[in-house]
Amino acid sequence: MSAGDELAALAETLEGRAPAEILAAAAARHPGRIALACSFGAEDCLLVDAIARAGLAVEVFTLDTGYLFPETYALWRELEGRYGLSIRAERAALPVPEPAATPPWEADPDACCEARKVIPLRAALSRLGAWVTGIRREQTPDRAGARVIEWDARFGLEKVNPLAAWTHEQLWAELRRFDVPVNALHQRGYASIGCAPCTTPVRPGEDPRAGRWRGRAKTECGLHLGPVAPKA
Ligand code: SF4
Repeated sequence: MSAGDELAALAETLEGRAPAEILAAAAARHPGRIALACSFGAEDCLLVDAIARAGLAVEVFTLDTGYLFPETYALWRELEGRYGLSIRAERAALPVPEPAATPPWEADPDACCEARKVIPLRAALSRLGAWVTGIRREQTPDRAGARVIEWDARFGLEKVNPLAAWTHEQLWAELRRFDVPVNALHQRGYASIGCAPCTTPVRPGEDPRAGRWRGRAKTECGLHLGPVAPKA
């Protein structure tokens, strides 16, 4: 059986299992080389809770662009305090923009995301055998084919999506069940929360990601773009 077939078979076996079970299986495959890339979305908060409650050896890091909401920085501290773990910051080594210059997210948002998210992520992932994300199939058409574990050809490691099959309703029921801290902005109409300059609330009935890069064609920061075909 090829490595790709083996991973596909494992994904099938793990489909429908609890997030902690999926995380434990992935951690066993990559001892000391697996981490959750936490963006402080509701999904990632639930995964932090699952990792901590099950005592799993899964590191947690975040891409700190420097442009996160104050509420997101507060949640970062709250999660660390609540679960007694450290959420490591990965940051781009970039000069602070001149105050008079066009802000980088206006001048070229793709380049801004590349510099502040994709490049630091690539560096962080280069040390790992697997990364964990909170993506769910129902979030976007790009994510509809996500498996609970798959080969990420873009970054060259395994990608673990324990919540791939979860619905929005399941997610929030579980968050309430375990009283997991979430971003205070969710109460103010923000469904998907990224950097402050590029995130707005959504109106009732709008797509949850409609508030990201509103008014632009951009829908992803580049972290979860394909291809994610199984390794041959
Ligand atoms: Fe820059 Fe906006 Fe991307 Fe954040 S989301 S890195 S501010 S373009």
